[in-house]
Amino acid sequence: MIDREQLDRNVDSIGSRVVAVSKQIHAHPELRFEEHRAAAWLAESIEQAGISVERAVGGLPTAFRARLGAGGGPRVAILAEYDALPEIGHACGHNLIAGGALGAFLALAEHGKLPGSVDLIGTPAEEGGGGKIRLLEAGVFEGVDAAMMFHPYDRDILAHPALASRWFTMKFSGKPAHAAIAPWDGNSALTACLETFRLIDSQRVHFRDGVRVHGFVTNGGQAVNVIPEHAACEFSVRAPFKAELERVAAIVERCARGAALACGVEVELSIRQGYREMKNNLAMARRFGAALEALGRPARETDARVGAGSTDMGDLSQAVPSIHPYLAICDEGETLCHQHAFAACAASERGFETMLVAAKAMARTTLDLLEDAKLLERVKAEFARP
Ligand SMILES: [Zn+2]
Repeated sequence: MIDREQLDRNVDSIGSRVVAVSKQIHAHPELRFEEHRAAAWLAESIEQAGISVERAVGGLPTAFRARLGAGGGPRVAILAEYDALPEIGHACGHNLIAGGALGAFLALAEHGKLPGSVDLIGTPAEEGGGGKIRLLEAGVFEGVDAAMMFHPYDRDILAHPALASRWFTMKFSGKPAHAAIAPWDGNSALTACLETFRLIDSQRVHFRDGVRVHGFVTNGGQAVNVIPEHAACEFSVRAPFKAELERVAAIVERCARGAALACGVEVELSIRQGYREMKNNLAMARRFGAALEALGRPARETDARVGAGSTDMGDLSQAVPSIHPYLAICDEGETLCHQHAFAACAASERGFETMLVAAKAMARTTLDLLEDAKLLERVKAEFARP
């Protein structure tokens, strides 16, 4: 077994370079599929280490891949996300995900000969774009035995769930009329839209634990003196597993159609497949946890007190044994993803410190997966179980 502490020292020696790239990405937030500068900065940092980078891999202009190892032996993928959110920038801390992946990869590169190969894959558009799904479909993950990334959070959790999700866009079309002179001549699209919210709320009692249905009105009408001819809303439906997602999605659809029927308006639904639920590989997550513990940071396996989101890592985890551990960049309960305060934490000393710990733990776990055939066997056996 090669000395794991050497990997830690490798991360430390490149730490300031990795922090600089992460800071740069944070300071220039780019939305899904538009992460041209972030992808270029990451690729350049890899090339500076003498490693070639395949750009626009899988047909996505802002994806990339770099590889260590000459082939033969297992292959582990370390994933970098780097997209930001509208208005609130890097409030999901993907700049730290990118830096953690870069640090782990460069530390393994410095290590010399590996008993297998390591891919660093730049995966764009996690925020609603499903970049990993596109890369999966393009075959970018073929031959990958295990995949990992880390995500910033308000606490350390090794194997937290992520929900299966689906998006609904609902467009209601009614009949306009003067709202004072002849309201009886109109059919309000807005009323149907609002009734949809009310009907969905009435059904929540029938949802299983962990289900999330949340929406907002995107078009509430055109003028106060006109019965709204057009109204629209969007809903996100999430559930801990696919069958419940299907069931709840059918209820949501029924509510929209019922509201439209009651209000005498038309409704047009468009449904976009969201993400699959996360299939956390516990054998891998526990090994990552052991690495964290060795680094002085023991972590819980899960924590029922915090909610779960959705990620395209869920889709990947259904195809390849995967982990998506969370590491704290602030105090518990202080702030969480998609808040302004979390964006600030993603560029704080504590954030960068956590990023480098993640790099070390991922580098150690990757090397374990390459060297320890029994571990990889357990990982694969667990993955094969339904
Ligand atoms: Zn995120």
